[in-house]
Amino acid sequence: MNKKIGLFWLRDDFRLAKNNGLIEATINHDQVVVFYLFKKNTYKDQEAQKWWLSKSLLNFRKKLNDLNISLEIVETDSFKIFFDKLLKKKDFAIYWNKVYEPDYLKFDKHLSNILKDKKIHHKKFKGNALNEIDEIKKNDGAPFKVFTPFWRTAERYYIEKIPSVEKTIKKCKKKIHYFSNCIEPEKILPKNKWFKNFEKIWSPEEQTASKELQNFIKDRITNYSEGRNFPNIVGTSKLSPFIKFGQLHVETIWNECIKKKSKTIGTSKFLTEIGWREFNHSLINHFPHMLKKNYSKKFDKFPWQKNSKFLNAWKKGLTGYPIVDAGMRELYSTGWMHNRVRMIVGSFLVKHLLIDWKDGEKYFRNCLLDYSPASNVAGWQWVAGCGADAAPYFRIFNPILQGEKFDKEGEYVKKWVPELRNLSKKFIHKPWEFNDEKFILGRDYPYPIVKHEEAREKALNAFKKI
Ligand SMILES: Cc1cc2nc3c(=O)[nH]c(=O)nc-3n(C[C@H](O)[C@H](O)[C@H](O)COP(=O)(O)OP(=O)(O)OC[C@H]3O[C@@H](n4cnc5c(N)ncnc54)[C@H](O)[C@@H]3O)c2cc1C
Repeated sequence: MNKKIGLFWLRDDFRLAKNNGLIEATINHDQVVVFYLFKKNTYKDQEAQKWWLSKSLLNFRKKLNDLNISLEIVETDSFKIFFDKLLKKKDFAIYWNKVYEPDYLKFDKHLSNILKDKKIHHKKFKGNALNEIDEIKKNDGAPFKVFTPFWRTAERYYIEKIPSVEKTIKKCKKKIHYFSNCIEPEKILPKNKWFKNFEKIWSPEEQTASKELQNFIKDRITNYSEGRNFPNIVGTSKLSPFIKFGQLHVETIWNECIKKKSKTIGTSKFLTEIGWREFNHSLINHFPHMLKKNYSKKFDKFPWQKNSKFLNAWKKGLTGYPIVDAGMRELYSTGWMHNRVRMIVGSFLVKHLLIDWKDGEKYFRNCLLDYSPASNVAGWQWVAGCGADAAPYFRIFNPILQGEKFDKEGEYVKKWVPELRNLSKKFIHKPWEFNDEKFILGRDYPYPIVKHEEAREKALNAFKKI
């Protein structure tokens, strides 16, 4: 047993199961301290996630407490500043799990080198992914740019890999404190109390994640291929924030899914979606420019329009298109939006309103509990047509037809846009055709901010320019 203190740098891994870095620290050391580095700057545009993070820290601290491990939160402006100070000491060994984002991986390398020079014991472990980024490449060593061959290779690679020996966490002998000037999880909460509604819906804990996964496998996975398209029902797993914060490891998802005796198309489709997450991580690491810019450079010349009136109407769910408005209100109210509706509202912003996808990406970043740089930029660039393996720009979602197809009875719209609750199925996705003295367009619900056909024409002309 190593006499030094075992430090575990907690990032996106709020779980005990399959938390290899933390488990190793408890096996090697009698005394373990978990620390979280809170960078205010990182979270300044991630208001919703401040709530999830704060609750996760609070809940995880309780669990660790039972194992005689303290969780300490240190506020810092940069990882470098923090480690420059920490590395003046030598009474510790340090462990962490990888986060598959270029900045994190770059810092990991830098930190490992310094620790090696200083002869401080350290070990980094695989993060929340099925495969490591470098493991999945084309035969010629180049990264994949198209999803299907990527996933075919990645899936096979994962299946053939010898699984690592599963270890479990050990209770520590004595709880100690290590860092000074720590902050409490509550300090991270957003100032604006709009998140109160999240508390009724979400419970950011590892046990909840496991329970939700089991419920999904039991009740919904068989019909997932179909059910995932309809926002009026709960047809998907809603596990995304748990996965993002690591309350659930994707290997656990995989294992639980394949345990199912009768494997259905639903199971395979569901695992393919986990595959999209892997693909997105691969993309941002091989093509990091796409985190800030168009993946496809030809879009650099796209004539986006600056229109704060349109952008605000979109954010507030007041565009006059019911399915778009319902999605945007669901997002604000719950911190989550159904995938089909993410595609519809995204397409509406970039194609009907000709607003740069980066503005949409920024707003999603602020509102989504499951925000992840990889899936958000890749999702937005997929919608805008400038991403890898993206939907072509000229394929423009018609928000009326999308509504009529995927929310036939208008239940989803009525839930989030209650001012339309008295409209029949015939008018629910085109309220401008409804004529009634009790429902006045412009008073009870906005006029459409653009006309679909005109907007479509304009978008196609703009596309021709590039
Ligand atoms: C414009 C846009 C932005 C998006 N931003 C994010 C984001 O910031 N974070 C995020 O996790 N997902 C994002 N997605 C992908 C997807 O919408 C969500 O992962 C999904 O809606 C989460 O709901 P769920 O957990 O019920 O998914 P399920 O359908 O149950 O899928 C299971 C898991 O697979 C992963 N997954 C599913 N679909 C996708 C996808 N298309 N791309 C990547 N991973 C996927 C997620 O981890 C998800 O939890 C975005 C999609 C679009 C179109």
